[in-house]
Amino acid sequence: MKKVRIGIIGGTGVVDIENFDLIEKIDIVTPYGRATAPISIFDANGIKIAFIPRHGEKHQIPPHKVNYRANIWALKEIGVERIIAVHAVGSLKEELKPGMLVFPDQFIDFTKRREYTFYNGPKVVHITMAEPFCPELRNLLIENAKKLGFDFSEKGTYICIEGPRFSTKAESFMFRNFADIIGMTLVPEAQLARELEICYASISMVTDYDVWKEEEEKVSTELVIETMKKNVNKTKKLLEKVISQIPEKRTCICSRALEGAEI
Ligand SMILES: [Zn+2]
Repeated sequence: MKKVRIGIIGGTGVVDIENFDLIEKIDIVTPYGRATAPISIFDANGIKIAFIPRHGEKHQIPPHKVNYRANIWALKEIGVERIIAVHAVGSLKEELKPGMLVFPDQFIDFTKRREYTFYNGPKVVHITMAEPFCPELRNLLIENAKKLGFDFSEKGTYICIEGPRFSTKAESFMFRNFADIIGMTLVPEAQLARELEICYASISMVTDYDVWKEEEEKVSTELVIETMKKNVNKTKKLLEKVISQIPEKRTCICSRALEGAEI
């Protein structure tokens, strides 16, 4: 099979990308187990892309049970060099309103018990994560979100918690001091991609304010679902634009992440 260079990881609300034509589905078993779903290969206006829904095809796998290593390994195996991952997040800041997209530039890891690395010895590898996201992909996301006239933030710190429970108010107030959005799935996905020299960027869709905010009136489930739908539509439009502009040649740090990382 010809290599597929671009991968999309779907999050809550994005279990399919029906605006592209499905070519085939591939079930991949990796040294780390089975990926959370078969990988769908789509034709995105002449460009082949690989898609995997992080939580499974029926959204049946909770964040702390996702086999992140198998998913990233499976994408690598079919040739993926660039990943755009979609995440549903809560907002920790007044100005990041539900319905907005955020392209995080940093993250903080508050997860507790996940498989964090492909390198458990005898090879010892310490990758650099000072800038955890691909600058080339982030630029494309920002430029295209601007052109589409979306309400978005071009940066933000994503705090990843273990879940599956949401935060207490005390936790939420603490997180607000050093992060902008909160979710359960960015870690270890982002660092595993870096360990395999795959570019990675996130489209984080704000669905609600986290529990820090005292709502004057209770937000209805309908409203949350409505916000989610709008977010998903925007994300799909954005993906379509960005995919068509991803350059074949990589000049970013991600492509050389293992240089000097091995001890
Ligand atoms: Zn990159």
